[in-house]
Amino acid sequence: MHSRQTRRSAAFLLVLVAAFATSASAQNYDTVQVRTQALARGTYMLTGSGGNIGLAVGDDAVFLIDDQFAPLTPKILAAIAAITLKPVRFLVNTHWHFDHAGGNENIGKTGALIVAHDNVRKRMAVGQFIDALNRTEPPAVPAALPVVTFTDAVTFHLNGDSIVVTHAPPAHTDGDAIVQFTSANVIHTGDVFLSAGLPFVDLSSGGSINGIITAADRILGMADDRTQIIPGHGPLANRARLKAYRDMVYTLRDKVRAEIAAGHSVDQMLATKISAAYEKDWPGGHERFLRLAYQELSRR
Ligand SMILES: [Zn+2]
Repeated sequence: MHSRQTRRSAAFLLVLVAAFATSASAQNYDTVQVRTQALARGTYMLTGSGGNIGLAVGDDAVFLIDDQFAPLTPKILAAIAAITLKPVRFLVNTHWHFDHAGGNENIGKTGALIVAHDNVRKRMAVGQFIDALNRTEPPAVPAALPVVTFTDAVTFHLNGDSIVVTHAPPAHTDGDAIVQFTSANVIHTGDVFLSAGLPFVDLSSGGSINGIITAADRILGMADDRTQIIPGHGPLANRARLKAYRDMVYTLRDKVRAEIAAGHSVDQMLATKISAAYEKDWPGGHERFLRLAYQELSRR
């Protein structure tokens, strides 16, 4: 009796675990389509599932920014092969997150040199826990790690362009990179900027809401009205959209600060819907953003 009960609860636990695993990996990569959008002077934005990809093709080399999830590598490489038969020579990660660097091992094995900020390699090498997503990432295999890392900035002189990769202050994570194609006038912002929602400030990866504002200000300084801006997620954007995002984050930061100063709890703050005015234009990530902002700004 006792053992049957134990067996039954063990079986129930298995069902629970399986259900959880299914929901955690609900993503079906088979149905994902990788689409290519041509931007200026041999640059492209690729979308599929996960972070937006930047691509530059020219006489010298194929240059790639981010690589989504490992199962999508064949589709991403097929999309690149539709433009050029050259292999990817450089791959820059805008940060370590699994939906941006998940294809590193595959693309590294095709011969690409992986480049990222120092903290990307550090975090990937030991594995991470993302508190806000309750998600554990195991240490990356060595072949997935950036081979060249930088502290402040690195410039690539390729295809007649200067591709300037700059570290932003801790913003989305503590290893964010912004990639500017100087003559094509295209900027890939990584997740410092999301064009359809509020930022995800990954506090457990060293992110900071003030850094998001600083990074957005820095990108605004690089951009003009004709700059094509590839956000970490969401549709292609421009300087005006980025400015609206920056102002929204600034305003909401002050509102969260005021809630904390008034002694309100997180739930009281959420109940007052301080971000409601932005829900139509920027639908994504409100509760997560407000909770993380509250958590960060309450620190002493
Ligand atoms: Zn991210």
